Amino acid sequence: MAHSAALPSSRPTTAPGYTSETTCCIVGGGPAGAMLALLLARRGIRVTLLEMHKDFDREFRGDTVHPSTLEILDQIGVIGRLMQLRHGKIFAPTIQAANAPFAPFDLRRLHIKYPYILMVHQKFLLEILTEEAARFPNFCLEMGANVTDLIQENGEVRGVRYVSEGGEHELRATLTVGADGRFSHVRTLAGIKPVGTSPPMDVLWFRLARPPDDPLAAGGAFGGIGKGHMVVALDRFDYWQVGYVILKGSYQGVRAEGIDGLKRHILDIVPQLAKHLDSLTDWRQISLLSVESSFCPRWYLPGLLLIGDAAHVMSPIGGVGINYAIQDAVVAANVLTRPLLSGNLSISDLKAVQAKREWSVRFIQFFQSQVQKRVVAAALQSQQLLSVPWYVRAFFHIPYVRDWPSRVIAYGLVRVHVEN
Ligand SMILES: Cc1cc2nc3c(=O)[nH]c(=O)nc-3n(C[C@H](O)[C@H](O)[C@H](O)COP(=O)(O)OP(=O)(O)OC[C@H]3O[C@@H](n4cnc5c(N)ncnc54)[C@H](O)[C@@H]3O)c2cc1C
Repeated sequence: MAHSAALPSSRPTTAPGYTSETTCCIVGGGPAGAMLALLLARRGIRVTLLEMHKDFDREFRGDTVHPSTLEILDQIGVIGRLMQLRHGKIFAPTIQAANAPFAPFDLRRLHIKYPYILMVHQKFLLEILTEEAARFPNFCLEMGANVTDLIQENGEVRGVRYVSEGGEHELRATLTVGADGRFSHVRTLAGIKPVGTSPPMDVLWFRLARPPDDPLAAGGAFGGIGKGHMVVALDRFDYWQVGYVILKGSYQGVRAEGIDGLKRHILDIVPQLAKHLDSLTDWRQISLLSVESSFCPRWYLPGLLLIGDAAHVMSPIGGVGINYAIQDAVVAANVLTRPLLSGNLSISDLKAVQAKREWSVRFIQFFQSQVQKRVVAAALQSQQLLSVPWYVRAFFHIPYVRDWPSRVIAYGLVRVHVEN
């Protein structure tokens, strides 16, 4: 895979301590950064993408590509490559409730071009986006480039300092974009403080064996909730990626019950996993993740913009984080392409990006926080398996209204398209 195609002015060298220059420096090669880099590169803007890791293969990443993102990928002509990869499709995921299985949304009812959530390993999506960007000579990707500082002059951000194999470097830029995820270093360096939006939870994250012809794989994902626990299983073809959600701070109690106690709790709510659990034998197979969600009151400073999780850490509820990160990138490219091309970027352009995105993000975070407080936290505190009340089931039978959850999952509050 070609990882870089640089303009003379932004070409990295192997000499330590070099200074280079570009128009837009993007920190972080996740969905937000990779998409923004591609969209700006295809409009002829000089863009350098700095990613601290040497590849895109990361364990703690979601794999769900929603209809909104599939339409964007279609618009920019890369959907074919994605569809050629090994993938799964989720149309209507099912929750194992005490009274009867329950599907909170069914995308097939929307009559849209891509009525499903595509499950594809995120590293392939990121490779496709960056390989596509590398077709443009004004794009440069530097892997293994860890941004350590912002260059600030006269109250404006003018680029970054970073460390890579070649040593310490400076990259000066008209615009610096922090797309460096939930623990954003750029955000911290800029002094922007996120505000929590949901009560934090803990997740035990591990793999379970998946036989090639596993009948559980038919829906692509499934889960159960109640009796103090929640299990979500995502089909990753060769294995099941399992998230076991617990109340914040209850990990020591789970650990004290041992691996067998953990397996018992999982089987209590998802008995279908009995055979699969044989492959879970040691705590070293399990990672403990803290799940938080937050929102930055301000996403910009002169010369700097935050997008994706750097601006708003998304809770895993609904599996929408990748898609909101990509929507941020699309809106940023729609708004900023012209000012960047003309050399007239002003702070009002950066403000416009936040204004166009913030209500969509606030809306979905409110929705996630309600689900987290009213459904997840309540079910974790209950000793029963979650039971879906009759009026909730009735709601999902009302024509048109029943499609709202599917629309929100598919597109969010506002549908986003590439404008140029
Ligand atoms: C356990 C878990 C499961 C999830 N599951 C899903 C799911 O199924 N579906 C979904 O849509 N969302 C899911 N999410 C949320 C989703 O992963 C994020 O919302 C999404 O990845 C945000 O994209 P991003 O581009 O903003 O940031 P990220 O994907 O976090 O990318 C940021 C990038 O910046 C790089 N970086 C960080 N610091 C620096 C630095 N100093 N210098 C250079 N590079 C740097 C990182 O290496 C990383 O590649 C999940 C999150 C968690 C924690």
